[in-house]
Amino acid sequence: MKPETLMGVAAAVVALVAVLGLLKQKRQPPSRIFKCGRCGSAAHHNDRTSEAWRNGKTRFFCQACHRQWLQSQPPLERGSGNARRDSMSTGRTGNSGCLGVLALLALLPLGGLLAWACL
Ligand SMILES: [Zn+2]
Repeated sequence: MKPETLMGVAAAVVALVAVLGLLKQKRQPPSRIFKCGRCGSAAHHNDRTSEAWRNGKTRFFCQACHRQWLQSQPPLERGSGNARRDSMSTGRTGNSGCLGVLALLALLPLGGLLAWACL
């Protein structure tokens, strides 16, 4: 094999590994440190807050505040309660808006038909 070919192969392998590494690497918050949304103290991002950041959250809580929050949550309400209430409220408004548009779209040709029939 010619040295040029070898160099080319090596470069291709390095590029491939770099691309795979980038794909495999999870997105991390831009800063390793955040200000706790509750007590205001600076805290390091951990897996939980990094995951929250990837989910689009902008407010993070330090480990101590998170633990306090968990303890303040009633066991049955935890997770499902808030999520259900949120999805229900957003779902309802979303559906009504969607239905309104659909009704309008359905009425438009009907109105045109009626107007045409009346003429
Ligand atoms: Zn805190």
